[in-house]
Amino acid sequence: MSIPSLSRVLVNPTALERNYRLIARRAGAHVKVMAMVKSDAYGHGLFTAAEAFAKAGCSAFGVAEIDEGVNLRESGCRGEIFILLGFDHGHVDYLFSHDLTPVIYTLQDLRRLNAAAVARKKRLGVYLKFDCGMKRLGFEPGEAAMLRTAMGGMDGLKLSGIMSHYPCSDERFSASSTEVYRAFSETFASFGDMPGLVRTICNSGGTLYFPESHNEMIRAGISLYGYYPDGADGRVNETADLLEPAMSFTTRVLQVKNVARGSGISYGHTYRAERDMQLAVLPVGYSNGYPRALSNRAEVLIKGQRAPVRGRICMNLCMVEITSIGAVQPGDEVVLLGRQAGESIDADELGTRCATISYEILCSIGNNNERITIRQL
Ligand SMILES: *Cc1c(COP(=O)(O)O)cnc(C)c1O
Repeated sequence: MSIPSLSRVLVNPTALERNYRLIARRAGAHVKVMAMVKSDAYGHGLFTAAEAFAKAGCSAFGVAEIDEGVNLRESGCRGEIFILLGFDHGHVDYLFSHDLTPVIYTLQDLRRLNAAAVARKKRLGVYLKFDCGMKRLGFEPGEAAMLRTAMGGMDGLKLSGIMSHYPCSDERFSASSTEVYRAFSETFASFGDMPGLVRTICNSGGTLYFPESHNEMIRAGISLYGYYPDGADGRVNETADLLEPAMSFTTRVLQVKNVARGSGISYGHTYRAERDMQLAVLPVGYSNGYPRALSNRAEVLIKGQRAPVRGRICMNLCMVEITSIGAVQPGDEVVLLGRQAGESIDADELGTRCATISYEILCSIGNNNERITIRQL
């Protein structure tokens, strides 16, 4: 038996589907969309999210490691599944058995995969990852010609596409993106005569803010979950239909208490009551992925009103001030992320209040709580 937690993450597949359709429209009619579902779909749940995107027309999915790809395939996913961020050669069998597409960034990997494919009398489709300015994973653009030649002799592999990644595409009109895209285009020239080769460089930022570079496929992550890569600014500056957050996080009031003026609250007494006040104690702390850095910074919603966090956030508890809300009872619903009675708190707000980004808030809250999927219109 499993007893439900007082706190839970709600994921709305309707919003995921709607966001996918918006992004697919932004990408353009002949551009494929790879839905990035790494990190348990940015905390939304791999299967829930992949199913929603597939329902909206998605047929390409990106994960970090092989185990995620295997799980996704075994859940019944029929699209193309890309392993973007590396694998151990002890596990190459899964690439074949589960029809996964690896993204390769070393010559040694190419050689080993080719040998594995030849030994199995198979031909494995691969993508090559080029580092055109991120200084993260990838071949150097200068290696393109060499790779072209080397792959000419690899009968077990089929070059399906080339990939790169933008470092600064969350900035509109970024000079860096122009430069990185130029390096990517030069890299592609080495493969330009190969028919059907897919180019993919755009993440959400590139998709929204650098449409000239959509090429054959874009890779969307944060936008599918309802957020803009440049945070609240992106939402304010949006001129088309707005992306819609799909995750909310709620809990219940555990206890209500009166605190006398001058009392210190929580560990270290980092907050001292400026007046006689009323607090609600909530069963949520940093072990629920609610960052301790939000101590004395975040607000939550109770009865559609904002209640500020007072004092440090503990491992499993935190306190909020409800003096001006009044008549709060144990058991009352609390929204830490999401909407309540017309008021809302989103992951950009929480991120800004603790010097991080929506991505980290979603992963952290989404992957550290009981998750339930509830379809809402
Ligand atoms: C996560 C990821 C993306 C998606 O980035 P967003 O900014 O979330 O859209 C695209 N490409 C690669 C290689 C990634 O790892």
